[in-house]
Amino acid sequence: MVNDVLAIHNGNYSWNIAFERGLQDLELDDYALLLTSLHEVHIKVGEDDRSKWKSGRDGIYSVCTYLRSILGSTESSFPWKMTLTVDNLHRKGFYVTEWCYMCKRDGETNDHLFLHCEGVRWLWNTILTSQHMDWVMPRRMEDVLRAWSRKFRDKDSGLVWNLFPGCIVWCVWRERNIRCFEDQAKTTEQIREWFYMTLYT
Ligand SMILES: [Zn+2]
Repeated sequence: MVNDVLAIHNGNYSWNIAFERGLQDLELDDYALLLTSLHEVHIKVGEDDRSKWKSGRDGIYSVCTYLRSILGSTESSFPWKMTLTVDNLHRKGFYVTEWCYMCKRDGETNDHLFLHCEGVRWLWNTILTSQHMDWVMPRRMEDVLRAWSRKFRDKDSGLVWNLFPGCIVWCVWRERNIRCFEDQAKTTEQIREWFYMTLYT
């Protein structure tokens, strides 16, 4: 509870945070950031502690407000830089083997994994063929999402069409993680079935 680590003297307050072990040098910057953040918090003495999400209306957390807080706007539809593909892990300083688990070759990036990987491209082609669509695949995922919007007379068809990209990303990312962490792999047919089952349930 906040009350356990907050000391108040003559109306002034200070934070008294005890750690179970001593901080290491590389953690000191984070500790300083934590203290800076805490000193920006306005404490109302005498009120009960409660959780409040400051980026949302009424202090209530939602995924939408979280995305808005980290992206700075609602224009981008997905935080691609946060997806922990190999290229993003390298940017964060983690050194892991360059490897795409879907095609078993070098170079796992968001755009490769979700769009251009030959272990995934067939899924896009299956969908586009089923919709009788001629489609030149853009280089980047953001461009696919921008170009994906179509008008349909039938509301349900429009809904399904709009769900296709997100459903592909979800199924590919799950399959990629199963291959990476559980050393198992679905066949192409199983992935196709899984995709449609996910789409329509
Ligand atoms: Zn690949």
